Amino acid sequence: MGWVWVIAVLFWTGGFAWAADNIRTALRNRHERKMQLLEAEKQDRLAVEAAHKPPEPVCGCTHHLAKHDKQGRCHERVEVPTAWDENKKPLRYEAGQCNCQRYVGPQPLSQVYADDLTDLA
Ligand SMILES: [Zn+2]
Ligand SMILES: [Zn+2]
Repeated sequence: MGWVWVIAVLFWTGGFAWAADNIRTALRNRHERKMQLLEAEKQDRLAVEAAHKPPEPVCGCTHHLAKHDKQGRCHERVEVPTAWDENKKPLRYEAGQCNCQRYVGPQPLSQVYADDLTDLA
């Protein structure tokens, strides 16, 4: 009856290796799926956060809303070229004021509410 045990052990070790291999693969796959899921969740969260975050109140003149006065004029200091070389490259700059006449960027929510309240008053 000795050979039965030999075959049994061969089957057992072979079967065990096969099972261990399968388990390893399954675990790895599950781990990868989990990582993908986590990554997807992270992307979702970032997208949600981005959607809830108010847009930066930056005007078309590239200056922040805070640089504009109540009439919407921009007071940001800018460099105005006063001399150019033959390649139309500015040589000299003069301090000037941005000539933006009206802020056209997104309004922050707090300001929209404040405007509504002042309109009612
Ligand atoms: Zn502006
Ligand atoms: Zn400006």
